[in-house]
Amino acid sequence: MIRKRILVTGGAGFIGSHLCETLLLQGHEVFCLDNFFTGNKENIVHLQDNNYFELIRHDVVDPFLIETDEIYNLACPASPIHYQYNSIKTMKTSIMGAINMLGLAKRVNAKILQASTSEVYGDPKIHPQNEKYWGNVNPIGLRSCYDVGKRAAETLFMDYHRQNNIKIKIIRIFNTYGPKMLPNDGRVVSNFIIQALTNQEITIFGDGAQTRSFQYIDDLIQGLLKMMNSKDTFIGPVNIGNTNEFTIKDLANKIIELTNSKSKIVFKPLPSDDPLRRKPDIEKANKELNWEPKINLETGLIKTITYFDNLFRKNCQSIK
Ligand code: NAD
Ligand code: UDP
Repeated sequence: MIRKRILVTGGAGFIGSHLCETLLLQGHEVFCLDNFFTGNKENIVHLQDNNYFELIRHDVVDPFLIETDEIYNLACPASPIHYQYNSIKTMKTSIMGAINMLGLAKRVNAKILQASTSEVYGDPKIHPQNEKYWGNVNPIGLRSCYDVGKRAAETLFMDYHRQNNIKIKIIRIFNTYGPKMLPNDGRVVSNFIIQALTNQEITIFGDGAQTRSFQYIDDLIQGLLKMMNSKDTFIGPVNIGNTNEFTIKDLANKIIELTNSKSKIVFKPLPSDDPLRRKPDIEKANKELNWEPKINLETGLIKTITYFDNLFRKNCQSIK
């Protein structure tokens, strides 16, 4: 096995911390770079005894140099409440972050993977979404800082590849959930689980008929690794997501059932530009990467509920 030096930007976040953990288990040297905007030290504290793990507090909008073989560019808030908190900063993170990391890849001849998103398809007019679809994105709405920022980052990746021959990979991640999401993250799975565990009202935005296809974190990590290790000529973009589509109302009922909760459902206004339907076409990932998701919603939800339940118990004990 060759020990690679691997930089993970956004490494202290939900996806990044799982990725750092897996790369260390595979025997690699991992540089975890994060500005801790939505990252959490708790996610990576157990990795800090490993001599092959290095934590770097840095903001990707500023240039950064390190000798590295591969870069996973994950730095960017992903939940609507967090990416809209400072929308200009979100755009800077996507664009300046991409330029800085692509510049680094060019300088040290590293392979670089961009964590793009299903949001590049906007509120899609075709269903399910395949990679050839150019999307239906509002350029001036509340979600635009994220959607358009991620689209611009994809453009930069493609241009660095065409102009400078940088080895790039682009994956479009669909809704992912699992342990280590922030409890106050605002995303639907963590919100509903916390509301259900604490018997608070479950807040459905809109009538709950909008759909999403939820992927468990372990499936995504396998997809990320397979993409980074795929042949150089396969640069993507490639969808990585689960194809089982659920309405938000179905999700609420499933979580109430699995947690045995007394929570009641309440309906709140739908945020603007909230996509009505979302489901990936994963034929390309299947063919090029031999990848498909393995974990169904119920199994993944049970693991995630157990995580949040333990987190609450631990916090209650530390207060006592
Ligand atoms: P997250 O918010 O948990 O993690 C993002 C990490 O990036 C955090 O640790 C945060 O502190 C860090 N960060 C933010 N801005 C930074 C900056 N300027 N400099 C350095 N670090 C910065 O989110 P996540 O769910 O782990 O998402 C990781 C990546 O995957 C993001 O790029 C996101 O767009 C993408 N993605 C996630 C999903 C999903 O469902 N989770 C879906 C599509 C795409
Ligand atoms: N949502 C909801 N209640 C919540 C949080 C989210 O009904 O407490 C809805 C949200 O309006 C959207 C879907 O759940 O239709 C998924 O939201 P999330 O923020 O998790 O992801 P995204 O919209 O980026 O896919």
